Amino acid sequence: MSELETTQERSPAVPAWEYAEAPESKEIVRLEDRYGLFIGGDFVEPKSGKYLPTIDPATEETLAEVSEAGTEDVELAVSAARNAFDTGWRDLPGKERAKYLYRIARALQERAREFSVLESMDGGKPIKESRDIDLPLAAAHFFYYAGWADKLEYAFPGRSPSPIGVAGQVIPWNFPMLMAAWKLAPALATGNTTVLKPAETTPLTALLLAEVLQQAELPAGVVNVITGAGETGAALVASDVDKVAFTGSTEVGKLIQRTIAGSGKRLTLELGGKAANIVFEDAPLDQAVEGIVNGIFFNQGHVCCAGSRLLVQEPIFEPLLDKLKTRLETLRVGDPLDKNTDVGAINSQAQLEKIEELVAAGVDEGAEIYQPACDLPARGFWFRPTLFTGVSQSHRIAREEIFGPVLSILTFRTPDEAVEKANNTPYGLSAGVWTEKGSRILWMAERMKAGVVWANTFNRFDPTSPFGGYKESGFGREGGLHGLEPYLELNGS
Ligand code: NDP
Repeated sequence: MSELETTQERSPAVPAWEYAEAPESKEIVRLEDRYGLFIGGDFVEPKSGKYLPTIDPATEETLAEVSEAGTEDVELAVSAARNAFDTGWRDLPGKERAKYLYRIARALQERAREFSVLESMDGGKPIKESRDIDLPLAAAHFFYYAGWADKLEYAFPGRSPSPIGVAGQVIPWNFPMLMAAWKLAPALATGNTTVLKPAETTPLTALLLAEVLQQAELPAGVVNVITGAGETGAALVASDVDKVAFTGSTEVGKLIQRTIAGSGKRLTLELGGKAANIVFEDAPLDQAVEGIVNGIFFNQGHVCCAGSRLLVQEPIFEPLLDKLKTRLETLRVGDPLDKNTDVGAINSQAQLEKIEELVAAGVDEGAEIYQPACDLPARGFWFRPTLFTGVSQSHRIAREEIFGPVLSILTFRTPDEAVEKANNTPYGLSAGVWTEKGSRILWMAERMKAGVVWANTFNRFDPTSPFGGYKESGFGREGGLHGLEPYLELNGS
């Protein structure tokens, strides 16, 4: 590929750092050959009789087989949830519900290493991310919502909050445990029961979570976990649930919205994004480079709020690009279980093909590609950290969600132009602003059509902070007090 600039052509060369391998042991994980569905508090064989393999994307080895829930299985799970709702959970005092959430949170902390290793094996994300971000945040969500369970009247004064009923919750493969926590914790704190459907490629930590629910002695049927592919998700959405909570692609989100239109089911959608990460000329450049790298290469770029469009003010374009390229050369791509790894495996063959297709479109449309020269493992699904310059607003790589480690770089001259370019997207999930001026941060934040605006940082999450989108990024908020609302009937609302 003639456009490909490689490390060899750049100078000065970065000293070659040799890292000794530091693999996290897999010993702590105990895998079954085959998993049933978690319905009514027990693991049961699927009525469908069907199973799907789940593989390690770093090695392509099959880790286990999981059940593929059919319509009958979905109905059984929903009726187990309905029964649990009607026979006790809805009427349990908030402080009693809170005890279960605290127990789950503590068990997640105690078993964090086991969960982190399994998350990295099944999904391909670097162990240092699953260990330091996904698992601590998942536990923090349960702790946080446990605190709300007995204070709902204070959260919504004068509005008699009551639970909705049974929630059908469909989650994606990029943050399996964290998304499970984002869905389950507020639902349980508010007195709802649920049926959770993890993604086809990353079902194992949700099944391990089911074991934790047993350990916490959560009443049978309050949470049910059904595995399967898209058809299972579609069957859950169409079933007798009272509320649907979905995180995933905009395409499937629209399909779900059409399916349940007119049914009276409540809906929250957390969909795709194409966030602008905007760097002004007065920004601290080294700090910004770290934020840009974290914004797009965190979790291989499989992040709905990833800073995938970098907008750089013209005077600093060259020095920033230079620093960014130098930094890319130090990123370590490879074994997700190695504690040195910065960029792990792409989650699936299908996702790798999607990234490759969009990157090829970027080259065809005339953008200039840069990838550091790094060795990739022979087996598994991998993609080098990638930058594109010479990108225009009309390029597919500037408009479509790539969901991979690919950054499109554009420039701007004035703050108004930055606002216009940043908002020129069908999405509106997040944005980042880098500048030393507090007044400019506020000016920009007011104008960004995005649910979250980070200032001089990127990809920071906290259970107390609401998260969600505008436009094609969806609606409804998860996290914080706002995250309780989608799970409650509020009189007077
Ligand atoms: P999907 O939106 O298909 O997957 C999200 C979840 O929805 C999964 O559990 C999936 O099941 C399930 N699902 C699929 N079809 C249906 C349906 N008709 N009704 C109900 N549930 C359904 O994402 P993909 O995995 O296909 O990824 C495609 C693209 O979506 C990615 O390339 C990326 O751009 C984007 N994406 C965005 C995410 C975000 O958080 N914004 C998260 C994931 C993907 P199953 O996995 O079993 O098919």
